Amino acid sequence: MFDVDVNCATCGAHISQLPFQPSGDRPVYCSDCNRAHRQTRRDDSRRERRMYDVDVACSGCGTKITQLPFQPKDTSNILCRECYLKSKDA
Ligand SMILES: [Zn+2]
Ligand SMILES: [Zn+2]
Repeated sequence: MFDVDVNCATCGAHISQLPFQPSGDRPVYCSDCNRAHRQTRRDDSRRERRMYDVDVACSGCGTKITQLPFQPKDTSNILCRECYLKSKDA
């Protein structure tokens, strides 16, 4: 362990020991925030949805669509997000 005199970048808790030598240009987190931080990152990557690059026009309003959350089999009847939500409402 390294003796340090820094504050956690998230909660401001004083940190007197670290398992590594802080480089100074990187924020340092206390062990609690470190754990929470890692947890969040894992959640983020799980939440991240794969998007497919497409080049189609919305069949409702003609808006150009460049990304879809799925790979369209038939691009002749694709709705943009707004039209899709509208069609669900109707
Ligand atoms: Zn903290
Ligand atoms: Zn549309």
